[in-house]
Order: sequence, then C-alpha cells, then structure tokens
Amino acid sequence: MTDVSGGAPILGEPLSIELANTSYAVRGHPREGLEVPQHLGSWLRDVRLATADVDAADLAATLALRDAIRRLADATVDAEPLPADAVAVVNRHAATPARWRELRADPEPDTVARSAGGDVATALSEIAADAVDLFGGPRRHDLRACQGPGCVLHFIRSGRREWCSHGCGNRARAARHYARNRTT
Ligand SMILES: [Zn+2]
Repeated sequence: MTDVSGGAPILGEPLSIELANTSYAVRGHPREGLEVPQHLGSWLRDVRLATADVDAADLAATLALRDAIRRLADATVDAEPLPADAVAVVNRHAATPARWRELRADPEPDTVARSAGGDVATALSEIAADAVDLFGGPRRHDLRACQGPGCVLHFIRSGRREWCSHGCGNRARAARHYARNRTT
C-alpha cells in the first residue's frame, strides 16, 4: 500500500503550525510529510483548504513557506528576534492572491470565499494570514516546542500541557519513569 498522505500528524493546531508540523519525527528520526505533490494534495484536503491537483511548483512554494514558518516558530519559542527574510516570505504569501468574500442572493443569502488565484496559492495565502496573526499576536506567547522524546513538533499550549499529543505525553512519562528507576 502506498502512503498517499505522507504521514504528517494533524493535531488541530493553527494552520501555520499544522504546516510547520509536516516536518516531523518518528522515534527521533526526521520524516518529510510533504515528499511529493500527492502528499501536499492530501494534506490540503485534510486541513480543508484546497481540493485541486498539486504540481511540483506548488510543493516547492509550500516548502519555502513552511521553512519560513518553522524559523519564525523557533525564534518565537527561543524569544529571539524574528528573522527578516522569513517574515518577508510570510508577508508575500499573505498579500497574494487577493481574497474576498462574496455575497450570494440565491437560493438564499449566503457568503462565498473567492480569490484571484489558484486553489493552492489561495491556501498558502490562508496559511500565511494565520502565521501573521499567530506570530504577531498574543497567542505567540503560548507557542511551545514539544518536550516529548525525539519529537520536533510545535503546538499552542492550553493549561500546563508540555506535549503536542497524548502519545508524546505518555512517552515522556515513561522515559522519566525509566530514568528514575535506573538511578535508584
Ligand atoms: Zn510531540
């Protein structure tokens, strides 16, 4: 069976962090969740952003935006200045293509999302807009790097959670238990 999704975890985090987390790890080994355009197509559907076919240029643009978001996330977690070139990449995607909501009258009043660009460009613009709000707003103070063993994911903290998922929390507790029993 071929892996059509790329295997990237989807944790219900803000869109920009979901994209950052497509670069993940399994037991400490780095994994690429967006290896081929097909993976990006599946991922975009999973996060309900686009259903269009995806090509290599779309994938390259997505990976460049992801790299920028990951660097912004690392700088934020480390309380360091945001790298200017990563800020520029996010702002460029946030500004294009033009997006707006359109009023529909039939069959009853409704709103429809419209854009001047293709589905993938619009999706990347949505992700970049989320990054603008996240890294420029108060939620940035709740951004955390997962403390699970071998995990490289980011998440927005709620309560005192130190882990991206229950799985990482369980592994961290098991590792602590193991370390404690080894030293006594
Ligand atoms: Zn984790």
